[in-house]
Amino acid sequence: MNNPRSHDLFTRASQLLPGGVNSPVRAFKSVGGEPFFAERAQGAHLFDVDGNRYIDYVGSWGPMIAGHAHPQVLAAVERTMRNGLSFGVPNPLEVTMAEAITRIVPSCEMVRMVNSGTEATLSAIRVARGATGRSRIVKFEGCYHGHGDSFLVKAGSGALTLGLPNSPGVPAALADLTLTLPYNDFDAATRLFEQAGDDIAGLIIEPIVGNANCILPEDGYLQHLRELCSRHGALLIFDEVMTGFRVALGGAQQRYGIVPDLSTFGKIIGGGMPVGAYGGRRDLMSQVAPSGPIYQAGTLSGNPVAMAAGLATLELIQAPGFHDALERSTHALCDGLEAAAREAGVAFHTTRAPGMFGLYFREGPVRSFADAMASDTQRFNRFFHGMLERGVYLAPSAFEAGFVSSAHGEAEIAQTIEAARAAFAAL
Ligand SMILES: *Cc1c(COP(=O)(O)O)cnc(C)c1O
Repeated sequence: MNNPRSHDLFTRASQLLPGGVNSPVRAFKSVGGEPFFAERAQGAHLFDVDGNRYIDYVGSWGPMIAGHAHPQVLAAVERTMRNGLSFGVPNPLEVTMAEAITRIVPSCEMVRMVNSGTEATLSAIRVARGATGRSRIVKFEGCYHGHGDSFLVKAGSGALTLGLPNSPGVPAALADLTLTLPYNDFDAATRLFEQAGDDIAGLIIEPIVGNANCILPEDGYLQHLRELCSRHGALLIFDEVMTGFRVALGGAQQRYGIVPDLSTFGKIIGGGMPVGAYGGRRDLMSQVAPSGPIYQAGTLSGNPVAMAAGLATLELIQAPGFHDALERSTHALCDGLEAAAREAGVAFHTTRAPGMFGLYFREGPVRSFADAMASDTQRFNRFFHGMLERGVYLAPSAFEAGFVSSAHGEAEIAQTIEAARAAFAAL
């Protein structure tokens, strides 16, 4: 692939931005090489500044579930922006958004809009601590909840990709309040709650882990955590920044039939604009300022243009059969990739949920973080570049879930599998 313009931009960027990027995984550091710079995107495709086209399985890391530059989303943004970009007083779209979220996700009786997933999770644990009067939180190895201090302990996503799961700059006194558990280990959770349950404000989890590749919950596991939290007076927080509105309209909590106390959202809910949200039980959320004493605020929170993009996206995904079609596409893609790997004699396994998937260069099954870590990352890196050369853009990390959108039709999936045949054969 010939990328002179991207190369020039990355050279300039590297002088001024740490690693040349504004978010670490974008730098291609773990897969090697240099990132391409996007000029535009349409449907399932990204177009770079050098005129190359890629079938995109990153989807801006989750928001673009209806495909890039969807005309209805763009029209809503254009219409809204003509009235002004930000008001600093309430606007009607915030109310429409709150009504949409609480209707789609019934565990959220009240909601607060913020500007990113990071802000949503930070705020949710503040509510958990404020409401319970306890200090400790529990998270899972390999789960990523944004870059808040309390979460950069055995973190996933870029922190995992770059081998920085515990970041310098996080005071030990704070990190010590974060307890970690291995995902899908029933007994470890039981033991931790027996020892420390009375000190635990909340347990936060990606119900499907999407920041350590893609790991699905074992039968009954999320229910087990629900029961432990209830028994010990800790709040169960589902971080659905990735899974929300994706694995089912009502997120993983709908798919698995679990009622968390608090939930966090982002990505899809902004339709490509910077948006996050947290919500949950009325008695908890009504303790947030100004109706209660737990402080949290935001100059641009509930921004009208961002609400318009998010609402238009929510509208699209409520079309009948939307998530069933997404699930079918995800299966078609993953089945095709597995068949292509078999033909080439490559040890390979996929995990899937509607609209998201994990790729592993090892035999299945993959149930735990340790299983996920045992994937052959060198092979993944070669495969990543083999696919990129053939016009398919996968997440530039062996530890990130991939995303399928409604714009990925049979043609795009067939092209992807064709490219994979060649890329597997060349490994
Ligand atoms: C992306 C992500 C976040 C962080 O959201 P940002 O908008 O990047 O701050 C938090 N939790 C999960 C599960 C995520 O996937």
